[in-house]
Amino acid sequence: MDQKKLADLLFSEELKTPEEYEAMYPLRNLPEGAMVTRLGPSPTGFMHLGNLYGAFVDERLAHQSGGVFFLRIEDTDDKRFVEGAVEVIISSLDFFGIRFDEGAGLSGDRGAYGDYTQSRRGPIYRTFVKKLVEEGKAYPCFLTEEEIGQIRARQEAEKVTPGIWGEYAVCRDWSLDQVKAALDAGKPFVIRLKSDGVPAERCGEAGPRKIRVKDAVRGTLEMPENFMDTVILKQTGIPTYHFAHVVDDHLMRTTHVVRGAEWLPSLPIHVELFEKLGWDLPVYCHTAQLMKIDEETGKKRKLSKRKDPELSLTYYRSQGYHPEAVREYLLTILNSNYEEWRAANPDAPAEDFPFTTGKMSSSGALFDLNKLNDISKDVLLRIPAEDLYEFLKDWSRDYAPEYSHLFDDRDYLVKILDLGRHDKKPRKDLVYARQIIRFISYFFDDLFQPEDPMPEEAAADAREILSRYLASYDHSDDSGEWFGKIRQIAVDLGYAAKPKDFKKHPEEYKGHVGHVSTVIRIALMGRAQSPDVWTIQQIMGEERTRARIQARLDQEA
Ligand code: GLU
Repeated sequence: MDQKKLADLLFSEELKTPEEYEAMYPLRNLPEGAMVTRLGPSPTGFMHLGNLYGAFVDERLAHQSGGVFFLRIEDTDDKRFVEGAVEVIISSLDFFGIRFDEGAGLSGDRGAYGDYTQSRRGPIYRTFVKKLVEEGKAYPCFLTEEEIGQIRARQEAEKVTPGIWGEYAVCRDWSLDQVKAALDAGKPFVIRLKSDGVPAERCGEAGPRKIRVKDAVRGTLEMPENFMDTVILKQTGIPTYHFAHVVDDHLMRTTHVVRGAEWLPSLPIHVELFEKLGWDLPVYCHTAQLMKIDEETGKKRKLSKRKDPELSLTYYRSQGYHPEAVREYLLTILNSNYEEWRAANPDAPAEDFPFTTGKMSSSGALFDLNKLNDISKDVLLRIPAEDLYEFLKDWSRDYAPEYSHLFDDRDYLVKILDLGRHDKKPRKDLVYARQIIRFISYFFDDLFQPEDPMPEEAAADAREILSRYLASYDHSDDSGEWFGKIRQIAVDLGYAAKPKDFKKHPEEYKGHVGHVSTVIRIALMGRAQSPDVWTIQQIMGEERTRARIQARLDQEA
């Protein structure tokens, strides 16, 4: 059949030639070894941790090598499109410090390799589909859903691999007249790749032909070649992911394709498409799936959108994780030697770490919220209290406006946040914004809520202890004088001045000075555990300190 005629029949619109596109998007003028990477999220409105995980890899590879990192919006699946999703993608990545050099942006595209939104690249895709048809490497297929179902049933009965391939691809060798008649009858069609592959069951002893692809994360992959006549252009005239990414990554001159392991099974299709189009393969980097230990079963499993709120990036923002903490944590699961490097370079910016795909796990990256929390404690310790104040304020504006009043007195909050952070063994109480507000809530009268009961040993004396404490309280006492007074109250009321005396002779005392000071701690902070009481009182100020003790005294009456 005359392929050229067929191609013109299917694509009657005025299209640029492949050569014109090649010239429009020339090879990038970059230094040797510079990598060009891209993130290709689909605008479904849901940004998950996997997107960020991949984005870090892309970003590091490009920026470490002096290359280019761009954003491409992959919206070929129009059923899943959600209004406003592009804004969500850009703003959430930006929040976590992911910056693009070119690509789709809030105020339009940046860069010379666009459009960067697949739905606006229709004519480009059609040019290359047309080229494949002209060369006899793709063809229109008019099979209906029903007919495909019948073929599948036949294949099941014959015990062969289901799908449109070989003799089951009935439109493969249609004549021009057959195609014309179908078009005249207004039948919808897709364009399929005319695969040269042969399924295993037709290969006999030798077995199926294999493709070998070098994957930067997984080493050399060997897989059976593709033999399916995969759809490359849907009935709507929109390409499938397979075709769109091949054309885009070629024309945008991507050198490294970083994507999730869920794309591994379709790699043979992509290899055949690159081959048929006569283009070089980019370096693929198939990242590991994010896994977690299931709370119920104790077994490792994939993170699930339905069960695990922590899969969504919104989770980290609404909980108020600092972007630095999330970044630091992701680096630890991205590269197995990161923690070692961090221990040797505690103060270096994460960008100094020499990231490599070779040190990435290929078998599933274990995600652990507790570990993130631990890392976050260390990261927050490195952030000055003034900056933490700003971070919390922004978070509260977006996610917890009910706390906006906490930011009215900047000095007060900064002192609270700085509490115990400069000690020899600094306190590591601060993890993420929502937890921090809970943790420091006792500093604010409207949030203050007693959590722990009075210690058993001193509960009966609580009133007496507080009343003596209040009577002797002098806000200008230094920490030594202050504690001396507590010790005196303890001794006067029959408590040991030192815990070890009480341990030695418990029968001689009601308890020890620690129990007495816990009574005060609980009156002031509502908690049996807290940072240093004297320091807290100095931050709270005299008036608030006295009022707290008085309020508890009134209650104990
Ligand atoms: N649009 C694809 C996805 O969201 C991107 C895969 C790729 O990066 O090639 O999974």
